[in-house]
Amino acid sequence: MADVPSRFVREPNPSEWKELARLGRERSSALRLRAAIVRLSARRVPIPEITRRLGVSRPTVAAWLARFEESGLPGLRDRPRRGRPLKLTPDAQRRIGLVASARPRDLGVQSATWSLPKLRDYLVRTGGVPVLSLESLRAALQKGGLSLKKAQTGTTRKGTTMIPAAFQYYAPTSIREATALLAQHGEDAKILSGGQSLIPMMKLRLAAPRCLIDINRVPGLAYIREAEGLLSIGALTRESDLEESDLIRTRYPVLHDTSKVIGDPLIRNLATLCGNLAHGDPANDHPATMLALGAEVVAVGQKGERRIPIRSFFVGPYATALNPDEILTEIRIPMAPAGSGGAYLKLERKVGDFATAAVAVQVALSKSGVCEQAGIGLTNVGPTPIEAKKAEGFLKGKRPDEATVKQVAALAAEESQPTSDLRGSAEYKRDLVRVLTGRAVDRALERAGRAM
Ligand SMILES: Cc1cc2nc3c(=O)[nH]c(=O)nc-3n(C[C@H](O)[C@H](O)[C@H](O)COP(=O)(O)OP(=O)(O)OC[C@H]3O[C@@H](n4cnc5c(N)ncnc54)[C@H](O)[C@@H]3O)c2cc1C
Repeated sequence: MADVPSRFVREPNPSEWKELARLGRERSSALRLRAAIVRLSARRVPIPEITRRLGVSRPTVAAWLARFEESGLPGLRDRPRRGRPLKLTPDAQRRIGLVASARPRDLGVQSATWSLPKLRDYLVRTGGVPVLSLESLRAALQKGGLSLKKAQTGTTRKGTTMIPAAFQYYAPTSIREATALLAQHGEDAKILSGGQSLIPMMKLRLAAPRCLIDINRVPGLAYIREAEGLLSIGALTRESDLEESDLIRTRYPVLHDTSKVIGDPLIRNLATLCGNLAHGDPANDHPATMLALGAEVVAVGQKGERRIPIRSFFVGPYATALNPDEILTEIRIPMAPAGSGGAYLKLERKVGDFATAAVAVQVALSKSGVCEQAGIGLTNVGPTPIEAKKAEGFLKGKRPDEATVKQVAALAAEESQPTSDLRGSAEYKRDLVRVLTGRAVDRALERAGRAM
């Protein structure tokens, strides 16, 4: 085992902070303890103080810190039993092959060549491969017909290198054809819509689908229409379409606010609302807005069409309720009644950045000024987008005044589950949710008043 870090462990990255928070909620007290040890050390709490606070021995603390330094978060999880060599899944075997064939610098590793320990550290840190010994890794490389030397020289020949891993490309012209391809290729396939999340991930080899199903040639998927009590938005409707739509600007201002703050104009010309939801990133902006609007997702697969309420759509970080053979074809939003208004407020470190935190609010007022409907969604302050149900419940049925708005904001802050990362501490983000919620509710009420 590596030496104990001389002072503190390295700064975990944002996804590691999230995962540490998740481990901290595990049923297993051992896992919770390990996560707490690393969190404290990352916050510059010295080892003697950690032992005091958690009531564990110094060797225990030192051992788990060393394990984290050595293998990242997977090192904190229970190791496979010793004895038989580790049996790698085909997915893990494939990932080893992909990473070993790439140049380390292309993957953000500060080295011109792979060594076995560097390759192992990278694989374990970025997930998809369990903690494995150097021997197991050597065996896996041999099994895949790869040597590190060969990998490094094999991929740098001029004119033949592609930054993402190789994939098959399909451009179906109907949803039926696209779902058949998805069913045929299973988890190896990915839908390509605007490509503004998928392509960057492939470029970094954080995603390496074997097969891309580009739905951009399927006709009839780009529309925004109001009919039969619903606003319907098709799968290939771009952010820029929403931004430029008079219907969205005048009747669904919360959606208009949201589209305007996504990335930059180049991204908005390609990125789609449906892709933004299907990606399942808790930092994306539309999920909170769709929660506030009480939307519904239409998913089409081999077995036909089903509707998924947005409240049950986000099941974990980057995980949605879509089945592997399903395509998100449409978003449906209940038509905004008279007297409704909404607002989306986001704090970003610089223009085009993902949110430090953001809040979506949608309200509907009766003629007498009572709040009949209230939806509040929170962005990037939890492992999934959060619906602030207590805050919504408090607002509903009231004629909102300053004290009500203050209480709604406090409840939303309580419901947020932020973790500390490069964008700020958990405490700061929670307070930000309070401030943004108060302002967004005020703006939504003001807009609703004008729409009577
Ligand atoms: C520099 C930069 C800044 C950004 N800033 C922001 C920001 O501030 N806020 C924000 O919310 N987003 C931001 N994004 C992300 C951007 O909005 C993405 O485009 C969006 O998240 C995904 O939409 P897409 O159409 O490009 O999907 P793609 O990239 O094509 O796909 C993303 C994922 O969703 C799946 N998918 C896509 N469409 C469907 C579908 N119809 N059915 C089933 N699965 C599907 C794909 O298989 C893939 O897994 C940023 C991106 C970049 C590159």
